[in-house]
Amino acid sequence: MQRHEEELDKHKDEVEKHKDELDKHKEDIEKHEQDVEQHQKDVEKQKEDTKEEQNSEQPAKEKPPVEKPTKEQTKDQAPVKVGKVVYLTFDDGPHAVSKDILKLLKKYNAKATFFMLEPNMRNYPDAVKSMVKEGHTVGVHGVTHEVSKVYRSPASFVGEMNKAIDFIQKTTNVKTHLIRAPYGSKPYVTAPFKAAADKEKMILWDWNIDSTDWKLTNGAYVNQVIQQTKQFNKKEPLIVLMHEKPTTLANLEKILKYYKDNGYEMKALDEKMTPVQFK
Ligand SMILES: [Zn+2]
Repeated sequence: MQRHEEELDKHKDEVEKHKDELDKHKEDIEKHEQDVEQHQKDVEKQKEDTKEEQNSEQPAKEKPPVEKPTKEQTKDQAPVKVGKVVYLTFDDGPHAVSKDILKLLKKYNAKATFFMLEPNMRNYPDAVKSMVKEGHTVGVHGVTHEVSKVYRSPASFVGEMNKAIDFIQKTTNVKTHLIRAPYGSKPYVTAPFKAAADKEKMILWDWNIDSTDWKLTNGAYVNQVIQQTKQFNKKEPLIVLMHEKPTTLANLEKILKYYKDNGYEMKALDEKMTPVQFK
């Protein structure tokens, strides 16, 4: 009997010893798991660091040179929205109908861009002020609008634009760089003309939707705009050409309604945009 008890005790001792070993093993496994976890964290952190580096490099590269001017037309734009945008532009004004055009634009929460002639601005300076006050963009279209004068030389082209630019600055304190060449940049704005304008930091805008409102004075221009908008397949912003004329005003609401009903945001041009130019 005595012997049996001894053996039993011995057995118990062995079992205890085994348990201890098992515990030790468990500890080792836990420690190993912690090491693995730490390693995964390190890898994740490294990935994030790399990402941050890449991100922080880009804005620095894209930062445009800062310019001083009196007042910037490049207002703080809302973050880029995904959606349809159209840029309505009006040439040859201002005009007696300017205030009614502005009223309609306001009604549809639309912004637009006006390329204006200096003598007309002298006749309607209040219209120019209202455009700026109401958040539209102002640009220039020259002085004479006569091919034989404005395109006589690169100097006369730039001179007409500068005269109109100065008028806007004097009247509204806005220094614009946006210009539209009378009859568009083709065929008159050849390389020397373009170089002269570039030197003055002018930004030349053509268009890609021609309303032909100057010709279709009975309102048929509305369908021109709608058809061209539907067929538009270029990878550039939609730029609609219209004019500040009574016959254009008479049917303008249809255009504004079309764009609104079809989910377009009507925005003013921004000097940071890459201009659409005839190729
Ligand atoms: Zn014109």
